[in-house]
Amino acid sequence: MRRESFRDRALVVKTYDFGEADRIIVLLTRNHGIVRGVAKGVRRSKSRFGSRLQLFVELDVQLYPSRKLSTISGADTVAYYASGIIEDFTRYSCASAILEIATHIAGLEKDPHLFEETTRALKNIQDSAEPVLDLDEFMLRAMNHAGWAPSLFDCASCGRPGPHTAFNPGAGGAVCLYCRQAGSIAVPAETLHMMWLVANGHTARIPLEHPEQQSTIHRLTTAHLQWHIERKLPTLAVLDQA
Ligand SMILES: [Zn+2]
Repeated sequence: MRRESFRDRALVVKTYDFGEADRIIVLLTRNHGIVRGVAKGVRRSKSRFGSRLQLFVELDVQLYPSRKLSTISGADTVAYYASGIIEDFTRYSCASAILEIATHIAGLEKDPHLFEETTRALKNIQDSAEPVLDLDEFMLRAMNHAGWAPSLFDCASCGRPGPHTAFNPGAGGAVCLYCRQAGSIAVPAETLHMMWLVANGHTARIPLEHPEQQSTIHRLTTAHLQWHIERKLPTLAVLDQA
């Protein structure tokens, strides 16, 4: 049965060469989740749309669906987020991590909210002085959307009201003295409060004079995300070494 072609908003999340002249493009779409498509002949000729199929560009794509691999027959640029990102290593690493995390969280279903969160985060990072904080905010918002955000005040195990001073990704976030098990990370209550501010869109209120607090927020957010995704994300690992 021949399926109808469709148009959708999309972000390129990965590309790789295929055959002699084609390129496989992995797209995070607004209304069809993750779509793998082939852009035929884009490496051979001066393809009209081939050059637009890059990272950090929001596109309006035309797709012919197929069970294994869709065909991308057209793409128009909607927004270009690459400027400000591709010339700065930290911003580039954070923006790459955002695309990778979105890919892990997205399914094959329509998820306009995840798509909007992802484009919003890329837009924020373009001129950000604190891209890691933007990445943390994206991670916390995306985890909240996925339904496994860390508890940052009440104990994740017994519900006892905080503030608490330990965090355990496996338990679901902050843990009280009674629920604190092996593998819990000691963390000042103030840092958990800062993390709550980041999760709830108050990133501007984070004091920037405490880099160690920021690095703890990043470490806990990443640990929680990784525990839930159950595999280490290569881009995040690169960022941790930086
Ligand atoms: Zn407890």
